[in-house]
Amino acid sequence: MNIQNYINGVYRLPLSNDYIDNYNPANGIVYGKTPNSNTEDVAIAFEAANSAFKSWSKTTLEERSRILIKISELLEANLERFAKAESIDNGKPLSLATSIDIPRAASNFRFFGNAITQFASESHESVGLNAVNFTLRQPLGVVGCISPWNLPLYLFTWKIAPAIAAGNCVIAKPSEVTPMTAYLLGEICTKAGLPKGVLNIVHGLGTTTGQAIVEHPNIKAISFTGGTATGAHIARVAAPMFKKLSLELGGKNPNIIFADCDYDTMLETTVRSSFANQGQICLCGSRIFVEEKIYEKFKKDFVQKVKQLKVGHPLDVSTNIGALVSKPHLEKVASYIKIAEDEGGRILCGGIEVTVKGFENGYYLQPTVIEVQNNSCSINQEEVFGPVVTIMPFTTDKEALRLANDIKYGLSATLWTNNLNRTMQFSQTLQTGIVWVNTWMLRDLRTPFGGAKESGVGREGGFEALRFFTEPKNICIKY
Ligand code: NAD
Repeated sequence: MNIQNYINGVYRLPLSNDYIDNYNPANGIVYGKTPNSNTEDVAIAFEAANSAFKSWSKTTLEERSRILIKISELLEANLERFAKAESIDNGKPLSLATSIDIPRAASNFRFFGNAITQFASESHESVGLNAVNFTLRQPLGVVGCISPWNLPLYLFTWKIAPAIAAGNCVIAKPSEVTPMTAYLLGEICTKAGLPKGVLNIVHGLGTTTGQAIVEHPNIKAISFTGGTATGAHIARVAAPMFKKLSLELGGKNPNIIFADCDYDTMLETTVRSSFANQGQICLCGSRIFVEEKIYEKFKKDFVQKVKQLKVGHPLDVSTNIGALVSKPHLEKVASYIKIAEDEGGRILCGGIEVTVKGFENGYYLQPTVIEVQNNSCSINQEEVFGPVVTIMPFTTDKEALRLANDIKYGLSATLWTNNLNRTMQFSQTLQTGIVWVNTWMLRDLRTPFGGAKESGVGREGGFEALRFFTEPKNICIKY
């Protein structure tokens, strides 16, 4: 299916007249074309957004809320169609797209549709000076949202929903690797009655379309999720124009397991936190540190469970691990397994590309567990973003904390223990934006979401996102 841009409420071909191939990762076949939009396409999207802003920014909160919730309902009503499209485009198991990706995209609209009606600003009485201050929270204008391929509609809408709820108009670009559900979203927005120009979806490569959005002098803010190197590049382009920036970047998250944890829950969750979505979630715990006392037992049990995961066609209901998103990505992940071996890592299971019968050209890889000797090897320091985890033992709390923090990234950490003092000490000392204790990826959309160190700048989620997408203006009245 060929994709078009969604600008000013209608689908249209790109002025660039340039297209890129869209591959189905399950079989390696090109199944559509995606526009590679240029600066002219971004310019017309900007004009549409800018014209819509005057009226949308003055639209009542009740009306904005009503439309966002309507989009949410329409996504739910089209769950099957969207989930299938996401699975085909990305390679993720259909079961995952049906239970996580699309429901969460719907929740994003519902959540921010409700949150905007509760979003309040501050006032300060300047006692003794006969003055009162209050703060207006005004929308920024036209903003840019750029998202990655791993959770396509989930992360795309996580930005768009708060941006439009707060009264902004948006130019959004999904990843060129997984454009399909973002394309389908346009028609849902039209049906929900979102006024034309409020959301404009332009497709294309990061280096052409993405770059054109970031470089546009009148786009006031960029909300970006993707790799750390891309985030650094965007910051360099946007900073001299004083754009507001929210950057959600890479991760290499520790999963720290103590002997006093609830072992069975830990084991089951660790299989998920390692390999869900083929390990292509920025929050996956790819460095597993296990207290020495239970290390050998964990190693045996974990490897046994991982070996049971079925690699298969994404649309097959019995599949646990689908296809990786693209051929270059599969090659990158496989190259890291080789590097790990060269650096002394021992492959306990997986490590090989597999073929799925009937889909021999798909991008499949066995879930891989590698035992490493130290935390300084490349496989422990660099983001692989695939179905590959490492395990190594530790003996003391101090050592576990040092290993967890000895990395340039700081997105999330998972801790398995039933010791309260240890929980608090680790929670305070882990250098990450998110800490999960005795769970993984349990999300409450009101909480601040984002990374420390090279995992990002700023926070999404709840009122943090609404604060990002508004400019505070203080008014001081003397009476
Ligand atoms: P990427 O950085 O290659 O691309 C992300 C998006 O940026 C895409 O839409 C791409 O087209 C665009 N882009 C690329 N170059 C650009 C440029 N010069 N200007 C503007 N836009 C540009 O990342 P990816 O490979 O799509 O995604 C994987 C990365 O995303 C991983 O590093 C992962 O950790 C990260 N990620 C982070 C989070 C988080 O919340 N922190 C969530 C998901 C994924």
